[in-house]
Amino acid sequence: MQSTMMRLPLSVSHLLERARQLFPSREVVSRLPNRSLHRTTYGQVTERARRLAAALRVAGIQNGDRVGTLLWNHSVHLEAYFGIPAAGAVLHTLNLRLSADELAYIMRDAQDRIVIVDEVLLPLWQKLASLVDVERVLVVRHGATGPLPPGCQDYEAFVDVDASRFAYPDLPEDAPCGMCHTSGTTGRPKGVVYSHRSTVLHAMGVSLPDCLGLSCLDTVLAVTPMFHANSWGVPYAAAMVGAAQVFPGPHMGAEDLLELMEREQVTLALGVPTIWSGILQALDAQPTRWKVRPGMRMMVGGSAVPPSMIQGFDQHGLAVKHGWGMTELSPVGTLSWIKPQHADQRLEEQQRVRALQGLPLPLVEMRVMGDSGPQPWDGVSQGELQVRGPWITAGYHGVPPSSAPITDDGWLRSGDLATIDSEGYMRIADRVKDLVKSGGEWISSVDLENAIMGHTAVAEAAVIAIHHPRWTERPLAVVVVKAGQLVEESELKTFLTGRFEKWQVPDDWVFVEAIPRTSTGKFHKAKLREQFASLVSKTPA
Ligand code: ADP
Repeated sequence: MQSTMMRLPLSVSHLLERARQLFPSREVVSRLPNRSLHRTTYGQVTERARRLAAALRVAGIQNGDRVGTLLWNHSVHLEAYFGIPAAGAVLHTLNLRLSADELAYIMRDAQDRIVIVDEVLLPLWQKLASLVDVERVLVVRHGATGPLPPGCQDYEAFVDVDASRFAYPDLPEDAPCGMCHTSGTTGRPKGVVYSHRSTVLHAMGVSLPDCLGLSCLDTVLAVTPMFHANSWGVPYAAAMVGAAQVFPGPHMGAEDLLELMEREQVTLALGVPTIWSGILQALDAQPTRWKVRPGMRMMVGGSAVPPSMIQGFDQHGLAVKHGWGMTELSPVGTLSWIKPQHADQRLEEQQRVRALQGLPLPLVEMRVMGDSGPQPWDGVSQGELQVRGPWITAGYHGVPPSSAPITDDGWLRSGDLATIDSEGYMRIADRVKDLVKSGGEWISSVDLENAIMGHTAVAEAAVIAIHHPRWTERPLAVVVVKAGQLVEESELKTFLTGRFEKWQVPDDWVFVEAIPRTSTGKFHKAKLREQFASLVSKTPA
């Protein structure tokens, strides 16, 4: 017997057509580099995405060719998210926080034929231009006029074509539609290539009620950069359901974001914890200044969310949802939501569950692998987190399968150490390489950071390993104190005593103005390790 179901390929263009047909007047609002607000609609975004697709085909772009974007978050980037795949091509997002050398490596690896660049990023582009071989450089000027540097073309002139007869190319659902390089935190950046199928399934998965719970009534603010990890799939998912989208452009300071949340009455915002810790401090300092929408949801992930952040936002009536993912997972793998059995539990217990990395999205499978095989789901047995599913990469562009972190039985090795409890909640203990190996025992840097950030005087804390002549490594706590507060090392040590074994409490503390960030806004532990490489722990031998 055969199934009687239609076999229609999943396609990113379907998501956009749906937004055009059903939600043409829903708004797309962007804060432009010059700080002005630009307003458009899905109707117009669709029309312009189709023109971009038609123009790319006229320029000779073929199915599977790569088109790079070096752009901030705004409506033209959204056009590119749809217009490039609609041309049958591959959207290759370029992380504008990388150096020219790193970007050149990535662009050469992808063989980008065309690149779309924000005018404010031309200084970066010009450092990179001679290192790569692209056919066209399209500059997004947001209404500015005047001469452009040689070899550059105005994006508006490029898309000024008649797309009335443009037809979306017929593509198999496994055709590539997007590409993103890993941040290279653990080596050379590697290209992950998404398909139309994986992108649509991911959009469906993240939208579900227990996940982001996206609907056409939502107004979504993606602080997650569109230049990395598909902005967590939100541009596609929001268009699919007809949610309004708000983009911050380059303006990602806490006050800028709070103003945008208030002005647009945002119902869901997404970003990494470092952004949200700034927002929480601003709200704590001036709780009545911004009238953000009561109950606004915030999805926070990319690195561990300290429980104190969840508690802090709860006090403002704002709900943090914690999630875990990787570029390799399109990127969302798990989100933490409470089950019916938690509904009647104390707030503290619910907050404990919400602080876990959470439950796998439908179609995502996970296991923790120890030396002796898959570990039981008992909440204490640790191992490497491994995942598989239809939006999880099975390898990297141009990397031989034998070098990819894929197990013989087809699971992706995450490089994260985790436990899973009997209810299926996953908790990340640490990145394997960030663990501190002290006298043969492992100390989780994440656990220490979360605890230290629970102290009322601490704004941020990162923990790294430093050398110790006897214990091999000891934890160094790098702490940023909140403005106007004072706290001493001894007080923080006392604060940790009782929460940790005595030998786990750091003896080494440094107080700094700021913790360096990676290109995706996480604590830059590699840089901290470099910075404190010569420091020897003062723990007694
Ligand atoms: P990079 O960190 O190199 O930029 P990704 O953006 O793909 O690469 O990040 C993936 C990694 O980020 C994961 O393997 C994990 O170590 C970390 N991560 C993501 N979300 C969380 C989370 N909620 N808690 C702890 N770690 C997280």
